[in-house]
Amino acid sequence: MTEMLALQEYRRELVRFGRWLYRKGFMPGTSGNLSVRLEDGTILATPTGCSKYLMRAADMVIVDLDGRQISGTRKVTSEIGMHLAVYRARHDIRAVVHAHPPIATGFACAGRALDEPLCAEAVMTLGPVPLAPYATTGTDALAQSLAALIPHHSAILMANHGAVAYGENLLDAFLKMETVEHFANICLVAHQLGSARPLQQLAIDDLLQAKERYVQNALAKMH
Ligand SMILES: [Zn+2]
Repeated sequence: MTEMLALQEYRRELVRFGRWLYRKGFMPGTSGNLSVRLEDGTILATPTGCSKYLMRAADMVIVDLDGRQISGTRKVTSEIGMHLAVYRARHDIRAVVHAHPPIATGFACAGRALDEPLCAEAVMTLGPVPLAPYATTGTDALAQSLAALIPHHSAILMANHGAVAYGENLLDAFLKMETVEHFANICLVAHQLGSARPLQQLAIDDLLQAKERYVQNALAKMH
């Protein structure tokens, strides 16, 4: 695939996943933003002030790792600093999704992390989702509030704001965001029922071992 074609494909992917997230109710109004790291190290991101349902491939913007706009007629999302903080800290990450999924954001507004091991699936696929302290959106303070957490997690709640998830590609980042909201829903119900029962440490260790075996098997099949 030539570089131009690859870029066009990434633009279309951002449109596709933006619509998917919008339809799930994770990006109402003009909220939420998505980005991917391109082969040359620059970042292709969604523009500011744009419904993720109406967004088109031509609307995307390219910035460098310092946030300087390289191309695009629209202005880049005001929350690009959050994305850049992830890309700078994690060289393995190629896509970032920021959204306001209602249940997970409810936890973030109630000052609650999603770090209780209530659900086997979430322990294996997501791990604990911490809560970053509140900082004003679009400022360096927000990126700083995430800095210590980014290396150790694949998704983070931001107090009184929303969530950010990241992965090896857009699908991976999307699936993590979807799992965050699903897990938030389960935690909410378990607590409403009044008898949430977290997994014991022994069971968690078993799950993490099972995950390790799964990863090793998948790697062995690739070689
Ligand atoms: Zn936001």
